[in-house]
Amino acid sequence: RSMSSVSIPPPACMLRPLEVPLRYLFGPGPSNVPPRILAAQSRPIIGHMHAEMFEIMNDIKQGIQYAFQTDNNMTIAMSGSGHAAMECAVFNTVEPGESVLVAINGIWGERVAEIAERMGANVHRMVKTPGGYFSNKEIEQAIETHKPVLFFLTHGESSAGLCHPVDGIGGICRKHNCLFLVDTVASLGAAPIFMDKQNIDILYSGSQKALNAPPGTAPISFNDRACHKMFNRKTKPVSYLFDMTHLSNYWGCDGKSARIYHHTGPVSGFFALRESLAILAEKGLEESWKKHKEVASYLYRGLEDLGLKLFIPERDLRLPSVTTIAVPEGYEWRELLTYIMKNHQIEMTGGLGPSIGMPHLPAQAMVHRELPKHQRDLIVQRYRSGEGYKRIS
Ligand code: PMP
Repeated sequence: RSMSSVSIPPPACMLRPLEVPLRYLFGPGPSNVPPRILAAQSRPIIGHMHAEMFEIMNDIKQGIQYAFQTDNNMTIAMSGSGHAAMECAVFNTVEPGESVLVAINGIWGERVAEIAERMGANVHRMVKTPGGYFSNKEIEQAIETHKPVLFFLTHGESSAGLCHPVDGIGGICRKHNCLFLVDTVASLGAAPIFMDKQNIDILYSGSQKALNAPPGTAPISFNDRACHKMFNRKTKPVSYLFDMTHLSNYWGCDGKSARIYHHTGPVSGFFALRESLAILAEKGLEESWKKHKEVASYLYRGLEDLGLKLFIPERDLRLPSVTTIAVPEGYEWRELLTYIMKNHQIEMTGGLGPSIGMPHLPAQAMVHRELPKHQRDLIVQRYRSGEGYKRIS
């Protein structure tokens, strides 16, 4: 008997095949990925520094410029999820001790406030209950009081289902020499956003929501004002991986002829992101916004027919990609979600952060777009029959 040098045996689970169920992803991301994007992702790996890869990255850059409606040269995709873009935006444009103003009406503002605090910024919070929104006047007053170098706002607040108005805020920030940072992780492709026209200085998104790509990459763009601030810092950003001096070179945005190795980007994730941006370009932004609105209206109607109330009463402020439902009294949201998942393979989620346990649950309408009509009708029928709802006795 030969003596084995390994004392830990191969785990039994690794000797079984990978099992992944088929699910209807109606939560606020990730969403179901169309076969065309899955196929793009399964192409052979090439080197992250190969000329063909740089070409694909240049395509992605242009795809993001279209999706963001910007001419910004400093437009890239992060190797990482939406949080990577959140950290990249804050780490690069803010130095320790500087003032940052964050609008909080759900979990995402709270997260950005924490990220800014961790890197030593002086953070000021403007807070509303989930579903609430800020007037331009309130924002200007807070900017005058706190004199921030950066103001953060979530465009698509997925934890509340709110699409925050953006018009006019960029101009206010400019007037007060403050950068305007906007999160469109849950809204890009589903609700209109115009980075250049709306004077947004830094904009980021994620791959796994309305773009319908797998999670793991995150578009981000900086305009000249943001570049001026981040490339004239006294201190280096706290993160090496997210340092835009390096990332701008990796993405060929720094005007240098040679790209120098910084990190190994997620090659397959970039293939998938490119394909999702290609689908958006083929379809057109206006068509995509229209479709999301139509599908959301269809969902609102179906839900209201069931006697359910939507969490955001103002129709114009609802986020077309994430619909939130006020759970009726006497029902327990966790039980509803478990029931729907167990019996229908449908994922919906409860609130997050400040909206957790609040009487609402977000359901993502965007995915209905991908379903054939008979399947959509079936889902509505199931809800109608009351199968999806179980009263707590
Ligand atoms: N911002 C918003 C509005 C989001 O909905 C999400 C994801 N739910 C994020 C940021 C964070 O993105 P990720 O989970 O990809 O890090």
